[in-house]
Amino acid sequence: MPRFNAAYLNLNQNYLFAEIRRRTKVFTDAHPDVRLIDLGVGDVTQPLPPAVVRAMHEATDEMARRETFKGYGPYVGYEFLRTDIATHDFGSRGVKIAVDEVFVSDGGKSDSANLQEIFAPDCVVAVMDPVYPVYADSNVIAGRTGRADASGRYAGITYLPCTAENAFQPALPDQHVDLIYLCYPNNPTGAVATREALARWVAYARAEEAVILYDAAYEAYIADPDVPHSIYEIDGAREVAIECRSFSKNAGFTGMRLAYTVVPKEMRGRAPDGTTTSLNALWTRRTAIKSNGLPYVIQRAAAATYTPEGKKQVQALIEAYMANARIISTGLAAAGFTVYGARNAPYIWVRTPPSVSSWDFFDRVLGTAHVVGAPGGGFGPSGEGYFRLTAFGSRAQTEEAVERIKPRL
Ligand code: PLP
Repeated sequence: MPRFNAAYLNLNQNYLFAEIRRRTKVFTDAHPDVRLIDLGVGDVTQPLPPAVVRAMHEATDEMARRETFKGYGPYVGYEFLRTDIATHDFGSRGVKIAVDEVFVSDGGKSDSANLQEIFAPDCVVAVMDPVYPVYADSNVIAGRTGRADASGRYAGITYLPCTAENAFQPALPDQHVDLIYLCYPNNPTGAVATREALARWVAYARAEEAVILYDAAYEAYIADPDVPHSIYEIDGAREVAIECRSFSKNAGFTGMRLAYTVVPKEMRGRAPDGTTTSLNALWTRRTAIKSNGLPYVIQRAAAATYTPEGKKQVQALIEAYMANARIISTGLAAAGFTVYGARNAPYIWVRTPPSVSSWDFFDRVLGTAHVVGAPGGGFGPSGEGYFRLTAFGSRAQTEEAVERIKPRL
């Protein structure tokens, strides 16, 4: 029998979203006539922007002709797309990012899970709590942790609690950590970080020779003018921060798969013998080893989001989802719930009623309102006592979900 990676045994029982799907299926099998509204997993529902669809058609036609056919593309993404990213996502905000600092990938999920590979196996990891579960889980299977305790905290990971009591802003770690996962706007709380808060993280990372892995998958949802869109808006971040973004939630690419990561050339790491090397070079090497690039058609589709027409259409999608967020947050607040988020992120973070656990509340909402949400505890121990709804449903479903939840819970 082959020996397997026993670090997998350290994982908590189920991936959150798989468990949500499992419980939902148990319910629908038992109640086949009930029409559920799914505001749980956080997948988008609106179709792709027309400019994106047109670009895909055109790129498909190119693939159909011998003269314009494309085989393997560059491992790190086509230059046309990387140039658009550098210009529109960063240059337009006064942030200089070079094209060879942009790595196009198949997802923010894979990037945020894979980046830990270029760091030492004994790095100490810090994660916001609650947060997207992929950061902790990918470090668990890389062997950086032990099993979780009864509260769900993995041994060896530093948890940074984010609760209403600290306005969802975690304190700096009180010990040394090496890899810090920050997610802003935050999934699941919807919180954003001020410029001052991010500057404190950058200062910490510089002082501790740590790295910030900054997941800005929901950057497009930032509405408050003073909130930074990129960690690189903070002085000194280029030496200590890697930023991940995605086309999933702004342009509806969850089924298309396209994202990118920025690794600035100033970032360096040290080997045990003192040798230093460029992290940009390491990530380039790693990408060349593990990827054969992303589909040309999908990269052309992503580039269409940067055309004037594409930008307008993406903005309209975001506004439609954020209108849903307001419908949920004002509706539930009027019904007496304490509600957070929904302002700079497509998530509504709801306090569960006193002494109702987040999984119990999930089951209650599913069983009585026939709405699927996500239990806060699944995003980390400090998410216990909260419940997440997403703004990614259709308008009609969103309105109906609020009407169903209000009187019954
Ligand atoms: N990062 C965060 C914080 C997310 O919430 C998600 C998806 O829900 C992702 C990354 C995944 O993005 P992608 O679809 O690009 O893999």
